[in-house]
Amino acid sequence: MSAPASTDRQALAELLRPIRGTLVIACVLQAIASVAGVVPFVAVAELGRALADDPHDSDRAWTIAWIGAGSLLVRLAFVFAATALTHFADEDFQLGVRRSLAARLGRAPLGWFTERRAGEVKKALDDDVEAMHHLVGHGYLNLTASVVVPLTCLAYLARVDWLLTIATLLPSVVGLVLYAGAMRSHAGHLAEYDRALTRVNGSSVEFAQGIAVVKTFGQTGRAHARFQREATAFIDFFWSFARGMLRKSAVSDLLLSPVTTLLVVLAGGTALVAGDHLEAVDVLPFALLGLAVGAPFLTLSYAQQDLMTARQAAGRVHALLQTETLTAPATAPAPAAEPQRPVVRYENVSFGYRADRDVLHGIDLVLEPGRLTALVGASGSGKSTIARLLPRFWDPGTGRITLDGIDIRDLAGPELYRHVGFVFQETSLLRTSIRDNIRLGRPDAADDEIRAAARSAQIDDCLTRLPRGYDSIVGEDALLSGGEGQRVAIARMLLADTPILVMDEATAFADPESEAAIQDALAELACGRTVLVVAHRLRTITEADEICVLDAGRIVERGRHNDLLAADGRYAAMWRTQEHLAVSAPDLVPGPDPESTPGLDLRSTR
Ligand code: ADP
Ligand code: MG
Repeated sequence: MSAPASTDRQALAELLRPIRGTLVIACVLQAIASVAGVVPFVAVAELGRALADDPHDSDRAWTIAWIGAGSLLVRLAFVFAATALTHFADEDFQLGVRRSLAARLGRAPLGWFTERRAGEVKKALDDDVEAMHHLVGHGYLNLTASVVVPLTCLAYLARVDWLLTIATLLPSVVGLVLYAGAMRSHAGHLAEYDRALTRVNGSSVEFAQGIAVVKTFGQTGRAHARFQREATAFIDFFWSFARGMLRKSAVSDLLLSPVTTLLVVLAGGTALVAGDHLEAVDVLPFALLGLAVGAPFLTLSYAQQDLMTARQAAGRVHALLQTETLTAPATAPAPAAEPQRPVVRYENVSFGYRADRDVLHGIDLVLEPGRLTALVGASGSGKSTIARLLPRFWDPGTGRITLDGIDIRDLAGPELYRHVGFVFQETSLLRTSIRDNIRLGRPDAADDEIRAAARSAQIDDCLTRLPRGYDSIVGEDALLSGGEGQRVAIARMLLADTPILVMDEATAFADPESEAAIQDALAELACGRTVLVVAHRLRTITEADEICVLDAGRIVERGRHNDLLAADGRYAAMWRTQEHLAVSAPDLVPGPDPESTPGLDLRSTR
């Protein structure tokens, strides 16, 4: 996601707008400080000239000395004020950026938050804000100083002697021209460099990942050769790329170094003094201040770097701030419009993750209290997508989903989640204690309620074995497997006790024994509630009130188990395949042995 440089620039300008005034004031203060910082050097030079006069004016000498010392204090005070201002501004800025990110992302669809997105958000909140801090706190001040200091010096030197000023400038100007040339050729080759690096990375990853396969099939030499070829090509390219640039930048570094300036000042000064153009004492200011002409250039290039980094960071933050958001309720629902009965209707719902390809087409579905509806179908047929639309991971493209007749988009967020509980395959545990994770939906739940829920979800034993039991922190001392995490999520759902439950292969990771137990717990929970399950094992949903068979985003069959078997359509075929597998290769079918746990299904304990 590399945005063009110009939009990055605009993004930065936009983000900095609230603190622009403060930054301008800080830069003005820094400019004054920079001038004040040059004054002591001017004072030393002037002191030299004053004392060289014969007889010398000692009052004048003292005045110069005081001005020099005083301006040091002025510089200190102004630098302090400028830095304090930028850091105060930076606090505001960071808080503002983080707040607007939080506000924006708080309205993003749940489905937006994937692993990759989590990485992006973390990067924006930490690294990118930090990169911009560097610019706001220091970059602009450094930039100001590195422009103002040389200009002040040059202005003074030009007053002393313009000819020697030009001579002093000469190495820096040539150095700058060379440096710019080196940078241009660097920028010109950067794309090529990236491509070469990608190629060599690709072949080394392939080489490393494929080692097992390559060895097994005795292709060691060939894979190795490809890696070696790419690496050699990269070295050749890099060498020619770096050589041209290094020569230019080495010469420019040399020209910009204070030693060169000093050499030129002394040589030029000596010549001018010998030619009676200049007093010997007038060489002194050049020897002192001439050094400041080329030196800030290094700072300038660092500040430039800060600016570039901050622009790219701003581009990324800006992109995040443009994240699509769910539509908020158009009008606050009137109290009368609060859903009473947990009846859910999907009305002609279509949906696509991308605008050009719908993965659901015209889904009609009614979920009612006391009824269990099951979605079955091949992988990729859209089961999970249907399940996720109800807790608003995404909103339907066309059609609508209603809860007791009210479009779920018109419900305030908390209202929806008071009614809908869900467990999906990839569980999301927060980096906090297990206890807090379980009582997320009911923060006031008592400890014995939490344990009861965990016991029902078959996870209590496992949790009490943790170093700090229920106080263990997820990801720190509670390192849970996928199945264990999922059972914690089930405990959370059990405790939240919502009238509508959505489960997407909720027991997919569980081992056979605990799956049986969890299914029992869920069956008990399902009683009297509105339940939507995505099932991959048909055996668990034979008692469902309605089974919907999905194919490529359409419901192609619906009905009860026996009716669907009798219809001898797609469901019957799926059933035969699974039964056949279960009989001929029971190990291939995950889950409990049908013989030992007869009639196991979500409603077996009703
Ligand atoms: P199922 O649960 O039946 O296996 P899904 O609902 O997960 O099917 O997927 C339906 C279709 O949507 C598939 O074609 C899948 O590739 C696509 N899909 C699922 N999730 C995403 C996503 N986050 N972004 C883009 N496409 C997706
Ligand atoms: Mg799925």
